[in-house]
Amino acid sequence: MSTKTLNLKRNKNYLNGFTATDIGDDHLYTGIDTPMKPDAFKMSDIDKKKRIAILFEEIMDVMGLDLTDDSLKGTPQRVAKMYIDEIFSGLNPQNKPKVALFENKYQYNQMLVEKNITFYSNCEHHFVPIIGRAHIAYISSGKVIGLSKLNRIVQYFAKRPQVQERLTNQIANELKKILNTEDIAVIIDAKHLCVSSRGIKDDTSATVTCYYGGQFKDQGKITELHNYINN
Ligand SMILES: [Zn+2]
Repeated sequence: MSTKTLNLKRNKNYLNGFTATDIGDDHLYTGIDTPMKPDAFKMSDIDKKKRIAILFEEIMDVMGLDLTDDSLKGTPQRVAKMYIDEIFSGLNPQNKPKVALFENKYQYNQMLVEKNITFYSNCEHHFVPIIGRAHIAYISSGKVIGLSKLNRIVQYFAKRPQVQERLTNQIANELKKILNTEDIAVIIDAKHLCVSSRGIKDDTSATVTCYYGGQFKDQGKITELHNYINN
């Protein structure tokens, strides 16, 4: 099969029949799981960094940058390290935060809200930053989670090439599994640099996405949650 046919097939499968150009600025997404190749972790992190550094150096070279310049020559290695160890480290399941649960000894049975969790992610269509805040709420089904773990779960899923809809659902899904309850709410309010710094260049718009599960489908609970967040 030629590369062209392969690419067309891939577009059909992954992009619901839209071409990559159609989808570019529209933030459509294809499913809850980040699309990964089956052999995504066959290569070690060390080898990935070596390979990315070579490829990034080529991008810089093609753009005409002088890689012998003192300021530029370390950039390919810096970018490779940043991709694998930092901003895309959430692609690797080994980096998923280990979460300990505790018995709900305080008998606290109202919603718990962790609000204004700052995160940095990157848009998977343009590889430029998404900067936002996540608000998370849950009602205990018998177990409670350490508060900082809620932040860590947000950071883990943010450190991937993302679309905001998928980020929202991935966080909600993980919390449902860990806390063994449907009573989860996730609200994300974020700024996409691919919208503000290029393309349509709208610096004032923001994107809000939400997930309301279980008891949070109730309008009263939603209003209560919004009151806490806006306080
Ligand atoms: Zn984008």
